Formats: sequence, C-alpha cells, structure tokens
Amino acid sequence: MYFPIFSLFLGLNMDKMLNNGRIKQLAKEVGFDLCGVARCRQMGPDGTFLRKWIKQGYASSLDYMGRNIEKRTDAAKLMEGAKSVIVCALAYKNDISEGYPADCRTKIASYATMRDYHLTIKQMLRTLAERLKEEDPELSGRIFVDSAPLFEKRYAVEAGLGWIGRQSLLITPQFGSFVLLGEILLCGECDTYDAPYSGVGCGECRRCVEACPNGAILDYHIDTRRCISRATIEREFDLQTECHGWIFGCDECQSICPYNLHAPKASNPHTTPLFDPRILSVQKWKEMSDEEFAERFGDTPLSRTSLDRVKKML
Ligand code: SF4
Ligand code: SF4
Repeated sequence: MYFPIFSLFLGLNMDKMLNNGRIKQLAKEVGFDLCGVARCRQMGPDGTFLRKWIKQGYASSLDYMGRNIEKRTDAAKLMEGAKSVIVCALAYKNDISEGYPADCRTKIASYATMRDYHLTIKQMLRTLAERLKEEDPELSGRIFVDSAPLFEKRYAVEAGLGWIGRQSLLITPQFGSFVLLGEILLCGECDTYDAPYSGVGCGECRRCVEACPNGAILDYHIDTRRCISRATIEREFDLQTECHGWIFGCDECQSICPYNLHAPKASNPHTTPLFDPRILSVQKWKEMSDEEFAERFGDTPLSRTSLDRVKKML
C-alpha cells in the first residue's frame, strides 16, 4: 500500500560513532513520537516467509513485494557500508481512527485525512539528518519513506519500537498501530543499539481477525486478495473485492485493536485532519468536480488516487 517517493544521500564518515541517546533526543525535538536504532543485519527467515506468502498468492497485485527480497530483508544491501538503521515513528490517531457509523458508505482510512505522510515524514527525517550532520559533517546516510524495498516493520521491531501484530502491522505499546514510519540508513556504527522488542504481544486476542469484513487476516499475515486497503489504494483497480463502504483504505482491523483504543490522540500538528469524511455524503462525492477534488484533497494521500476511481467505489 505504499509507493516509493524519496531518497537522500548525505556525506561520508566511517570513523565517528553515533550516539544512541543523542539520536533519540534529536528525533524527539524534530517531532517524532518514537525512535530506535537497529543494527543492519540479514533477516533470512523474513525472506523465507515472504517467498512462501507470495507463492501462496496472498500478495495478489502487490507484485513489487516479490522484487528485491534480498534487499528487503537486509538493509546493508541498500547502501554500501550501511551499519545502522534509525527507525522513527509518528503517531497519528485522530477522531476518525476510532471508527465510522455503521451505515457510512464514504469511509476513508484516518491516515488519509491528513497531509500526505510521505511529505511530512520526509521533511522531518531531512531535518533530523541535517541535525546529525551538523554534529558530524562527514556523516553518510540515506532517508527512506516507502522509497525502497526495506522491511520497515521488521526493522522497527529490531529497533525496539513494538511487535508485528496479528493483522500484520507494527503495534507499539504507547501508540498502538496508528503510527507511520520513516528510516535513516547510516554508514556509522552506533555506540549502543536498541534491543529488539520482546514485551507483550497480541496474546489470545483475535479482535482484528473477527472485525475484518472480508476475512483477510490469516494470523500474522494478510491475504491481500481480500483486503479492502489494497483494493482501494493500489494502482491495479479491483472492483471484485467487496469494500463495505470504504472508498480509500480501511481501518477496521485497527479501530478495534485494544492497543489503539487506549492510545492517546496524536499531538503533532502535522497529523491534524484536513477534512472529515463523515460529513461528505455519497451525493456530495457524486457531484464533486475534479477541480474541487484537487483543491480539497491535493495535499492528502487521496491525491494518489483519482476522483473517477473514488466515484466507482460509491
Ligand atoms: S485493512 Fe480492512 S480488509 Fe484489510 S485486513 Fe484490515 S480490516 Fe481486513
Ligand atoms: S486486535 Fe488483538 S490480535 Fe489484533 S493486532 Fe490488536 S492486539 Fe493483536
């Protein structure tokens, strides 16, 4: 459900060690809610799992998942000399994340109601990278916001941020799964690395499995052929999947998660919703012009779809 948009190369210095505490302090100052640092390492079992998942047909139109699996499971293959991955998370829970009235036919995933996170997180990572570079002018690195085949959820676990839940998304103890991720890959070694997350996980809970209207959740992985989020967002338009009133994305498996129910609302002003889908009726969408669509949603992830496509979902 993500698209490559950005990468940035910094300079080069192999000698100076990165300071874990300082990285976290700067990430907080920039506005990230969570930050951890993981060592680059090969994650072979993830590659094996991914190949099996694709072979079983669960990737459906996400054919890019089958490309560059070696790189996806080993960040060091994305940049020569890469040693460390800084993983940053921005929490974004808002009113819309809590769910829609049962009869709503114009539902939009809550992340899509705010400014496109690719732009926001890219900007924040750039600032963080610049601050790090001020302290070590020869620092070398690369920024990612869905811009390379990087198994970012797995690196987030490695960096101690949380675990991968039954619905296959990263869950953080503090902010649930309503978090967006960005990474900086660096050539430098860090003085200390965060321990991979080892706290409580989903346990016996199966709420997301029961809440998914299409039965797409298969215990820690997804059959994307049945996933509304894939059907409404990915480039290959799919009218075969029943979308249950969702016209862009789907939050059903997240709104129900106990970790999200207890998570605080987002505080970063970049995550403030720019519109409220609950007040846009089916009629309003049908009457909307392309100009109005561009004006209303041009800064949001909806700009990655088209009004024509949205109208077909109604
Ligand atoms: S996003 Fe929606 S359709 Fe996809 S797994 Fe979650 S609840 Fe099911
Ligand atoms: S709803 Fe329950 S099983 Fe699903 S991700 Fe949340 S804690 Fe895990």
